[in-house]
Amino acid sequence: MPTPFEFAQAHHAQFEHELCDLLRIPSISTLPDHRDATKRAADWVAHHLKSIGMTVDVIPTKRHPLVYAERLDAPGRPTVLGYGHYDVQPPDPLDLWETPPFEPTVRNGALYARGASDDKGQLFTLAAAVRAHLETKTALPVNVKLIIEGEEESGGEGIEAYVRAHGDRLRADAALVLDSGVFAPGVPAVTLGLRGIVSGEVEVIGAARDLHSGIYGGVAPNPFVALAEIITGLKDAEGRIRIPGFYDRVVPPDPAEKAGWDRLPFDEAAFLRDEVGSAALVGEPGYSPLERMWARPTLDVHGMPGGFIGAGSKTVIPSRATAKISMRLVANQNPAEIARLFDAHVRALTPRGTRVEVRTRHGATPVVVSPALPAVVAAQRALSEAFGRDAVFIRMGGSVPIVADFIETLGLPTVITGWAVPDANAHSPNEKLDLAHFHHGIQAVIRFFERIGGAA
Ligand SMILES: [Zn+2]
Repeated sequence: MPTPFEFAQAHHAQFEHELCDLLRIPSISTLPDHRDATKRAADWVAHHLKSIGMTVDVIPTKRHPLVYAERLDAPGRPTVLGYGHYDVQPPDPLDLWETPPFEPTVRNGALYARGASDDKGQLFTLAAAVRAHLETKTALPVNVKLIIEGEEESGGEGIEAYVRAHGDRLRADAALVLDSGVFAPGVPAVTLGLRGIVSGEVEVIGAARDLHSGIYGGVAPNPFVALAEIITGLKDAEGRIRIPGFYDRVVPPDPAEKAGWDRLPFDEAAFLRDEVGSAALVGEPGYSPLERMWARPTLDVHGMPGGFIGAGSKTVIPSRATAKISMRLVANQNPAEIARLFDAHVRALTPRGTRVEVRTRHGATPVVVSPALPAVVAAQRALSEAFGRDAVFIRMGGSVPIVADFIETLGLPTVITGWAVPDANAHSPNEKLDLAHFHHGIQAVIRFFERIGGAA
């Protein structure tokens, strides 16, 4: 009988083939006309998990179903709760894809398709690892529960409500969240922190109607100029947020964790040139770029709809202007509190003659995880074995909203990791999954189950 490791090695082609079936389903959760396709992806995942020997339940939510699966035949052993999502981002702009987003294609050792890395290619490794154990042993080395959602890219309300109402069913000893990535190609990583987010819109209203700037310029307030004043009042030229109380709860990283970041193979010049492509990196002085992206909160403006944006000129003083703004938060900032502070400061900054409407959404709570958690130690060893290279500790500037619920609501020691490369183009055209990483990922989950189960 082969080992689970050997079984996975012997089934590379089959795993890739099956993953391609899932990647062909355009499960774009945010688009109402893709509701059926999104349901089809849920059914595919459910059917697949059933076929490998798990007990499966498709749980309806207000929008896209959750897939819950379990295999609890390791009495006395710990339980791992695995997480992934089967929904994907819209593929636009389509003309920038070298091959169509829902026709998975292999080029240069990578599989190109929407969802290849985020997150179908990652959630699939949970199933493949379960299967490798069950095909080679009579039982799993741990009890395994999987919760796979279909709204990660469009709100995630379904899983949030389920976790809060049905925490008992998801009870476990550790969670394994596969929605992150490696630090660099071939350098596996455990993600110890995620930033949270508050996003929203600030709408400034000036005159009662759009006005002629020749007739009224000089007396009518301009909402775009007002917005510019508000925005510079929110963040200074050095990148420091000027909202009173904003930094009060920020916890700096542990010196050992920060020292680890300084040792990472991070090439600032290459990062500037290849990833950012601007004239210089910006941000708060006194913090390294990794620290600014991982352990410092920030504020960005995403768009300013309003006024005249057609070709040519129209000398109008618009009556309204909007700025879409978000803040990335770090532990222990509280999204609801930050939203209140933001609201109050925007009002205080609003110039005379204008009024403001502030709408905010509390997207996600920031999280940090201790590197000393036994589950994190087990994951670091499992990743190192699978990739043949020491796993490093990183953080991620983005958010995975459900992680805060796993940690706070379910009280689970949570391992956040994944196999995506930094240039996987998640959310962009030509999303890809490095196939070597995919197979290392399967091996890493196999080993993680063994280590948590005490079998290794
Ligand atoms: Zn994702």
